[in-house]
Amino acid sequence: QKPVPSDIVISRSCVPKPIDCLAREVGLLPDEVELYGKTKAKVQLSIIKRLQAQPDGKYVVVTGITPTPLGEGKSTTTIGLVQALGAHMKLNVVACVRQPSQGPTFGIKGGAAGGGYSQVIPMEEFNLHLTGDIHAITAANNLVAAAIDARMFHEASQSDKALYNRLVPLSGGQRKFSPIQINRLKKLGIEKTDPSTLTEEEITRFARLDMDPSSVTWHRVIDTNDRFLRKITIGQSPTEKGFTREAQFDITVASEIMAVLALTSSLEDMRQRLAKMVVATSRGGRPVTTEDLGVSGALAVLMKDAIKPNLMQTLEGTPVFIHAGPFANIAHGNSSILADKIALKLVGPEGFVVTEAGFGADIGMEKFFNIKCRYSGLRPHVVVLVATVRALKMHGGGPTVTAGMPLPKEYIEENLELLEKGCSNMRKQIENAQHFGVPVVVAVNAFKTDTEEELELVCSMAKAAGAFDAVRCSHWAEGGAGAVALGQAVQKASDASSKFKFLYDLELPITDKIRIIAQKIYGADDIELLPEAQHKVELYTKQGFSNLPICMAKTHLSLSHEADKKGVPTGFILPIRDIRASVGSGFLIPLVGTMPTIPGLPTRPCFYDIDLDPETEQVNGLF
Ligand code: ADP
Repeated sequence: QKPVPSDIVISRSCVPKPIDCLAREVGLLPDEVELYGKTKAKVQLSIIKRLQAQPDGKYVVVTGITPTPLGEGKSTTTIGLVQALGAHMKLNVVACVRQPSQGPTFGIKGGAAGGGYSQVIPMEEFNLHLTGDIHAITAANNLVAAAIDARMFHEASQSDKALYNRLVPLSGGQRKFSPIQINRLKKLGIEKTDPSTLTEEEITRFARLDMDPSSVTWHRVIDTNDRFLRKITIGQSPTEKGFTREAQFDITVASEIMAVLALTSSLEDMRQRLAKMVVATSRGGRPVTTEDLGVSGALAVLMKDAIKPNLMQTLEGTPVFIHAGPFANIAHGNSSILADKIALKLVGPEGFVVTEAGFGADIGMEKFFNIKCRYSGLRPHVVVLVATVRALKMHGGGPTVTAGMPLPKEYIEENLELLEKGCSNMRKQIENAQHFGVPVVVAVNAFKTDTEEELELVCSMAKAAGAFDAVRCSHWAEGGAGAVALGQAVQKASDASSKFKFLYDLELPITDKIRIIAQKIYGADDIELLPEAQHKVELYTKQGFSNLPICMAKTHLSLSHEADKKGVPTGFILPIRDIRASVGSGFLIPLVGTMPTIPGLPTRPCFYDIDLDPETEQVNGLF
């Protein structure tokens, strides 16, 4: 076997076709495409209307066993599979993937363009900045954060009347409400549009949001793995007159605005969701929203381009939509509904759309079904579950690995015993997919150290566990040609009957929904609500948010809440520390254990290897 060059070397060795040519090939009209340089474009939402009558293609979701530091290759398999379906099996195909976060790109994981001969190209464009969607989310998110603290500051020092006069200033001798202020009045039950007619009581209700600083749930965000922002104190300058407050940063991809982008169905729907986001509770117990803050229109303006999916291509020239959502542990971790919907129309009834749900099937896939499919109304035909021999060995009790140290021999030599034990994790994740009634094809992503017997063992154990099929693939080393067997298995499975069902009913109490996920998907004995979580259950139930689906924030490295518990942990109680409400995106987020919502950097982050060649302007060292 020829040695496989580094990801960036492979990516650079292939000249991408001009993106406007690719756009034409996939059936986009020139007016529907906005070019961002030669290799990236945005697709206008008007296409949804144009293709309304076109039947949808087949919908495939790629997920995996519980991740380990050894890597499973879900993104690589997603890209390998579409290269097989498109370039080799000559079917219409689009991959819909998530935009990578700069945090992991410079931190521990590297990029997310796939790897080897199955990649989105140019991978440096894909991994860094893309067309600025994550920057737009950061800007929008932090505008809300600034609006909250500034509003509390101004309310504290002004009378109701003074506040009102500033909020509704004189213009040409008359006061006038903005449309956003009229919306707020309606919400308060005040059906008036003339500012001079408000009573004293109405002026107080309108002007004062009266947010309780300790109830602010909106955090600032940044797209960097900066652990020192996990807890900060804001307002320390004397100009803020002692209005200090403990606050925190999350990573941008965990922002509610990212979830809004991923789950929205149109510009109008996004505008409404951006208005509904709850940022705090007033001292009187009312939820305070972005519309109350007057910022919702500005958010829509900041997000108006981000809502359009981004088009790029694979190494074999097949189309890829990149739009929204990594981080299935602390966010919902799925790419956008809009990209999937456009892609399903573009490929037509015989074509395939392959999307990826982040991390293991217990989190990314569970959220794909229970959150994304609920909002999109789309029903997938096939689940592809990616497994690797070495990751399964770690689940079977193989030693931990240390970055920078050689891999222990268990992972480079045949060890059927460890592998067989570790297949328990794959079996559980197959069962998790089966809860939703969709056929599962296991893709065994082969590494060069895997033996025939090992690959065979995983396939036979997967079939014995109820998988529709299980195939080994070598797309990392061979490109789409190495995933044709997988493509054929997926095509066959897509014709099999599937009886899709959700895991829980939305009408169940919040606690019951969390318990169902914990018991059925994670294998927990029960859940334990810590006091803060209990308080939030009561608050959100009172505020009318109890019918939302659940988006667990849990470690991706174990089925349980403890990252070091591999395989299939049993006999544990899942601790729920707190719950957040993402009302605009439409879910509740129980925080399991002590899950940080912004990662940190390791001793030797990926950025040590990344540099620019000033002569050629080439980026080196990305992987
Ligand atoms: P995931 O999506 O599961 O996080 P990726 O597809 O991003 O995983 O792959 C993680 C890393 O593993 C990438 O650097 C990729 O190049 C590498 N990789 C994936 N599959 C293989 C393979 N079969 N052999 C060698 N390296 C691989």
